[in-house]
Amino acid sequence: MQIGAQALRKAALNEDAKAYVLNNPALFHLFKKAADRYIGGETLEDTVVKARALDNQKFSMEFMGESTRTEQESNMSTQEFIRICEQIRIQDLNATVSLDLSHIGLAISEDLCLNNLQSICDEASKSNIEVIISAEGTERTDAIIEIYKKAIKNYDQLALTLQAYLYRTKDDFEEIKKETGRIRIVKGAFETAEGLSMPRGEKLDEIYLGYIDQLLAQKHKCSIATHDRKIQAQARLLIQEHKPVKEMYEFESLYGICNDQLFVLKDQGYQTKLYFVYGKEWYLYLCNRIAEYPMNIFQALNDMMQ
Ligand SMILES: Cc1cc2nc3c(=O)[nH]c(=O)nc-3n(C[C@H](O)[C@H](O)[C@H](O)COP(=O)(O)OP(=O)(O)OC[C@H]3O[C@@H](n4cnc5c(N)ncnc54)[C@H](O)[C@@H]3O)c2cc1C
Repeated sequence: MQIGAQALRKAALNEDAKAYVLNNPALFHLFKKAADRYIGGETLEDTVVKARALDNQKFSMEFMGESTRTEQESNMSTQEFIRICEQIRIQDLNATVSLDLSHIGLAISEDLCLNNLQSICDEASKSNIEVIISAEGTERTDAIIEIYKKAIKNYDQLALTLQAYLYRTKDDFEEIKKETGRIRIVKGAFETAEGLSMPRGEKLDEIYLGYIDQLLAQKHKCSIATHDRKIQAQARLLIQEHKPVKEMYEFESLYGICNDQLFVLKDQGYQTKLYFVYGKEWYLYLCNRIAEYPMNIFQALNDMMQ
């Protein structure tokens, strides 16, 4: 299974394989059926319909895309994130915005990225919508943190994702905690060079919960972004111990992954949020969801046959 997952990660990045699937109407239809389990749809409008059907569940929306390589592409993505903010405001949605800085120009220039982020935050500020910056590969961590620290000076509803599996996060956490923006803790999804990150396991779980414990104890806004049932159970105990007010924390899951666990937490009265991605770049997203949990291949086959 693990070898298959690694192969799938590589296949996902193979442009020829991607073009073959996406340009073949029969394959496109099959793969899209499997992807629908994990995405809001191909458009913002599809996503809003899907999210609203979920019994007043708070949600976050991200327009999916790979690192933009031209200024024009990054400006177009920025316009789409602005459109998300407008629609949240106009439709009064219980929703936030999530984004990769590389989608709005980080790979081109930090100034371009900061300007684009500022434009999104300007629109978000009209109704105080939270904007959450994702964590990316380690080659981008320094730049992401720098841009976050600059941008939060002008918009305090800006949040940042930190990856618990990186050894450096211990220091980044101390620095970022000084800002008031929400800190989303994830385990970490990217492959890293040796020595930069720790593998899944008890040590990582302990470190993950250590960050959550500190954030809850210090009444700092946080997001417990995991599907790990054990961590969710331990975090519930920490919430009972520190008694944060509701806006201070949220359990967050990716749409299509262990959502039953999130809905149970919601029914128990905990703050929860569902993370939707949407757009036409769903092929890579689907491959990654299967690669990170290879048993999902059976789910995908089943979805294709429906
Ligand atoms: C809201 C949110 C935002 C995120 N943002 C980022 C980000 O900005 N940067 C980043 O690097 N990573 C991000 N991630 C991904 C994260 O780093 C992990 O890779 C991902 O959440 C899987 O780890 P886990 O905490 O669920 O625990 P794991 O130890 O990986 O999994 C624990 C259990 O959860 C279940 N599970 C996990 N994944 C799946 C799956 N795909 N399908 C079915 N079951 C599964 C399984 O039961 C598994 O045993 C985000 C995750 C979430 C929920």
